[in-house]
Amino acid sequence: DGHLLEVRDLFVEFHTRDGSAKVINGVSYHLDAGETLAVLGESGSGKSVTAQAIMGILDMPPAVIPSGQILYRGTDLLTLPEDERRKVRGKQISMIFQDALSALNPVFPVGWQIGEMLRLREGMSRADAKRRAIELMELVKIPAARQRIGDYPHQFSGGMRQRVMIAMSLALDPAVLIADEPTTALDVTVQAQIMDLLGELRRDLNMAMILITHDLGVVADVADRIAVMYAGRIIEHADVHSLYEAPAHPYTKGLLESIPRLDHKGQRLTTIRGLPPNLMRIPSGCPFHPRCPYARQECVDVVPTVRSLGNDRTSACHFAQEVLDGRI
Ligand code: SF4
Ligand code: MG
Repeated sequence: DGHLLEVRDLFVEFHTRDGSAKVINGVSYHLDAGETLAVLGESGSGKSVTAQAIMGILDMPPAVIPSGQILYRGTDLLTLPEDERRKVRGKQISMIFQDALSALNPVFPVGWQIGEMLRLREGMSRADAKRRAIELMELVKIPAARQRIGDYPHQFSGGMRQRVMIAMSLALDPAVLIADEPTTALDVTVQAQIMDLLGELRRDLNMAMILITHDLGVVADVADRIAVMYAGRIIEHADVHSLYEAPAHPYTKGLLESIPRLDHKGQRLTTIRGLPPNLMRIPSGCPFHPRCPYARQECVDVVPTVRSLGNDRTSACHFAQEVLDGRI
């Protein structure tokens, strides 16, 4: 017990005119101080929605949370009064988004935007806020930070803007940083630089991080553990090394077979057939069964329970052990 952050059996539904979509269906995960959890999944798997629930930024309604807990240092954020919750959000737990350009205000210099947050939330003087803003821009390795503090967002490249966003998210010295697809909008070289920066920061600042991504290729060097999501569930959870060595769920196995690997030169890449499920009509039994090459009748009829495979490893597949052992 006593995790820094723990999501417990969370359910989220979206109520729309066309019906209700079960977006999160019993998600549990935890994060300890200083570690990085990668939450991996296709778009619509619920990885961002879980993060938005943690941050308290879900639109309610249409979103409703029928049950579940989000514990931060043992306190359930979902039952906390809004003003208490606001002290946690942004300060203790902060989030960076995919699209830095739309998250920054185009009409104010970036240094001013960082400083203003420090003035509002920490009550800093103008001079202190400016000094700290420069420090933060140096921390995220923006060259000539002191000279660039008066520049506007559009004067920075995409990668530099994402660094500004990271600087802002670190301004209040959070214990947890949630990064939602932080590099998706960037080109490959810049992606790698930003991932390196995040890795360095979390080591130097001893921060815990939730890294949300659809790209299994980017997490190997940064994450300690991976939670793989599908149809609003965590279908596999393991430490990064074990998962790469031997996946215990056919979906993860499919994902691994679809990324290029240096140690498997010349091997043909496969892709997972079919599309993610419609969350208004999640398939019976195992939600992955229409796409799973190993599906049997049992998979259509019975929802797989989450099986424990030891070492904090789980898989929600009827044949988890067989997949893990490479027998299917
Ligand atoms: Fe495939 Fe069946 Fe396992 Fe689901 S339970 S992943 S359909 S083998
Ligand atoms: Mg998303």
